[in-house]
Amino acid sequence: NGFEDGALTWAEVDLSAIRHNVASFRQLTRDAEIMAVVKADGYGHGAVPVAKAALEAGARRLAVARLEEGLALRKAGIRVPILILGWIDPGTARELVAGDLEVAVFDPAHIPPLAAAAREVHKRAGVHIKIDTGMGRIGWRDMDQALKWAAELNRVPEVEIRGTFTHFAAADAEDLTHARGQWKRFDRWVKSLESQGMRPPLIHAANTAAALSLPEAHYDALRVGIGLYGYLPNPGWKGSVVLRPALRWMARLVYVKWVEPGAAISYGCTYRAPARRRIGTVAVGYGDGLRRGLSNAGYMLVHGRRAPIVGRVCMDQTMVDLTNIPEARSGDVVTVLGDDGDESWTADDHARLLDTISYEILCGIGKRVPRRYV
Ligand code: PLP
Repeated sequence: NGFEDGALTWAEVDLSAIRHNVASFRQLTRDAEIMAVVKADGYGHGAVPVAKAALEAGARRLAVARLEEGLALRKAGIRVPILILGWIDPGTARELVAGDLEVAVFDPAHIPPLAAAAREVHKRAGVHIKIDTGMGRIGWRDMDQALKWAAELNRVPEVEIRGTFTHFAAADAEDLTHARGQWKRFDRWVKSLESQGMRPPLIHAANTAAALSLPEAHYDALRVGIGLYGYLPNPGWKGSVVLRPALRWMARLVYVKWVEPGAAISYGCTYRAPARRRIGTVAVGYGDGLRRGLSNAGYMLVHGRRAPIVGRVCMDQTMVDLTNIPEARSGDVVTVLGDDGDESWTADDHARLLDTISYEILCGIGKRVPRRYV
């Protein structure tokens, strides 16, 4: 109940959905572990509670993008392996190694600071060699060079090569030609490591999309992000798992009134009531992450029915047309994103109207929206 702590908008995160989704991915594979990707505060769901739920459901390791994200998980008492997927600042090597955070390596300049930090804190630096097979973001592109470098790295006593990985650019595409090409390049890399007796313990490549579309890319771990949260990478795509969206975003209906035909609603008067209309004001706006692009577009769910957003989304308030929902009253709780009764208005629905993806919608739910765990 939103009145309990006075919040006018909040998000409920159903941790049983996270556990269910982890279990669904575990069923896809016989041998691969689940590495739960909880970067960007668990795609907006809250990294620590999501990480704990994922581990309870059998995930074995975690991945984040930044040092601070890894340290926050350690501070919460989480002890499983945590991989930093992105570029690391070599100036933070000591914190990384002291925090037992594994890092992606592809820049030889990162090794001396990692080795020095390892000597200082009396630990080994755990690294995963990152290979760019066609994402074009970070990683070694030249496999021969990478192989020579891996052999050198193998001789650095302070560094332990715990894994190697790549990332797919388009494993959710209808045409998997690019993804298959990436897999082939990666597989060749893995085989060349094996032939030199340098196979690291953990080989991983698959994001949610590849976990579903390219079983040959499963290797030792699936790096599942969006699927954990209950969404498919591409909403038009029929995946082979049943997922449950974990987050429902709620807000309070704070004011309800009738307006006359022609009445203007919100900034810029972009909406004019075509007839007498019953208009509700909901205490949520772009200051909470509700995108202004939803002005005069999309819905909120009220009493299990769709109430169209009318006029511009403001910073803290947004208006909806309640004419067809006569039972709506000031004080009611409405669903900004999620299910209500038989109706559903998901992050994919928001994303479609805004020409983006569910990831961006979920990550964009603001700090002002407290997360509650159910
Ligand atoms: N691996 C890497 C390197 C990533 O950057 C991400 C997220 O973008 C993932 C795995 C998880 O991807 P997804 O959320 O599509 O499962």
